[in-house]
Amino acid sequence: MVKKIKLLKEIKKYFSGDVNSPVRSFKSVGMTPIIIKSGSGSKIKTYNSKTYIDYCMSWGALIFGHSNTDIIRAVRNQLSYGTSYGFTNNYEVELAKEISKALPSVEKIRFVNSGTEATMGAVRVARKFTSRNKILKFEGCYHGSSDLLLRTDNSFIVSYNDLESVEKTVKKHYRSIAAVIVEPIAGNMGVILPDKNFLMGLRNICNRYEIILIFDEVITGFRIQYGGAQIKYNIKPDLTCLGKIIGGGFPVGAFGGKKEIMELLAPSGDLYQAGTFSGNPISMIAGLKTLQKLEYADYGLIEGRTEYLCDFIENEAKKNSVDIQINRIGSMFSLFFINKKVYDYVSVKKQNVKKFKKFYKLLFNKSVLFSPSPFESNFISFAHTQEDIEKTIKIFSSVLRRIR
Ligand code: PMP
Repeated sequence: MVKKIKLLKEIKKYFSGDVNSPVRSFKSVGMTPIIIKSGSGSKIKTYNSKTYIDYCMSWGALIFGHSNTDIIRAVRNQLSYGTSYGFTNNYEVELAKEISKALPSVEKIRFVNSGTEATMGAVRVARKFTSRNKILKFEGCYHGSSDLLLRTDNSFIVSYNDLESVEKTVKKHYRSIAAVIVEPIAGNMGVILPDKNFLMGLRNICNRYEIILIFDEVITGFRIQYGGAQIKYNIKPDLTCLGKIIGGGFPVGAFGGKKEIMELLAPSGDLYQAGTFSGNPISMIAGLKTLQKLEYADYGLIEGRTEYLCDFIENEAKKNSVDIQINRIGSMFSLFFINKKVYDYVSVKKQNVKKFKKFYKLLFNKSVLFSPSPFESNFISFAHTQEDIEKTIKIFSSVLRRIR
């Protein structure tokens, strides 16, 4: 305990806002950061030895759960051969092959070190290709923490699922729009599904006005099925951004797509992009092992567990007269305390955040760790057992009774 108090003091001293990434502060749920000591399978253990069933799973990166034996073995084996060469290695090639096989729109790829770098790279190369400067993006979508994608002065921002606004904006400004960037299934305002014609509509508009369509699949890539949302909905973006799962729990990002666009990158073209750790053998081998395992994994299993849990929560909420909407796809889900459908950021913002905070704390006190914000997604991994789900269900029963 003394050790923990000392650690907390030091955290306060060194880290702005007590964290190295804002949502970890637990501010959105009116709590303070947790300090993690270890993770194993579906469980995460804090510094003060509390164990939680983890539904955050490093924000979706850990599809096989914490410290998966096969991935750890592959990484451990590589460690003695070197951790970073700063030169090309064979695992980059093998991972690229695996990704391109699963996502045929990715003809050429560049590995980077985070999702943020991936979206930056994609937007920069789209600008170069089109000789246009602006981007069109969607309210509530998140594409990393670069100025390029957070600033609003170089962007048009419209509502998710609002094709009409896209059409109107593009018609007026297409001469300056390089790219439309979208999370094909949104995960950063909670899970928001694309309407039936939304993504195809974007594809058509981009075709008509010669705008680059970028799918940011940093979350959805290899999450909802092998490949990603573009395979599920059968729509070919010009560029794709990846991260999280393709690094098997290690830092990674990638962007890729049409050969003629990607060839503008240095050294084949003159758009400079580089990275000391890009394609490092540890992230590559962890990602490769993950995708090799996923190729033969039964995605139906994690989808089934997600459905089972969400159906239960919905029924239990009804029984207790608690207004809840659950959005889910594959193994990702979010719950919103609201009595109407949520389909864009405006509707998400209408949820009862106060109720969410109360619910979150109750759940947390019973050792279930959801993503600590009403604007995030939760994830079920292959390490979550039926027993974990049953345990969670029981806890939900008591929690929902208390937040009526
Ligand atoms: N795009 C999306 C869709 C994301 O969800 C995230 C991170 N959650 C990013 C980009 C940025 O990725 P990273 O945190 O690895 O920089």
